[in-house]
Amino acid sequence: MGEQTHQRAKKLIVQQHVEILSDSESQWLNAHLAGCKSCAAEHCQLRESLSALRTMHLDLPPNLASRTQFRVRMRAEELHEAEPVKKFVWAIAAVSWALGVATAPFVWRGIEWLGHTTGAPRIILQAGFVLWWSVPPLIAAWAALFDKRLAQPQQPE
Ligand SMILES: [Zn+2]
Repeated sequence: MGEQTHQRAKKLIVQQHVEILSDSESQWLNAHLAGCKSCAAEHCQLRESLSALRTMHLDLPPNLASRTQFRVRMRAEELHEAEPVKKFVWAIAAVSWALGVATAPFVWRGIEWLGHTTGAPRIILQAGFVLWWSVPPLIAAWAALFDKRLAQPQQPE
């Protein structure tokens, strides 16, 4: 067999993995591989390395899964770290609300005194008192918004 015959066989060995060979090409190659150890070995080697590639491809999902798990764990740790901050925010809100309740009579007296002294309309004084009461929820709302704004850039992707 001439060198050109082997060259043609090698070309067809590679080609059959890329595209379907014509019947005559396929028959010719099979006939050549049956009688040529060198080309048959090459054919085997290529098939093995290609199946090895496929095996590597099959190994990807478990790796991907562990990476995803890692990500989830990272996110969980992030959330866990954010937890004390939220508790702190609610503690501040609770304390300021409790202070609001505790100081309400004094504040009301103060506002009454302010009304007597300045002669300001009672509606403005009442509005001021309501404002004093609504400060804790406002702080909590602001803190929650601020917390969200802080958390957003940390999110992956
Ligand atoms: Zn050959």
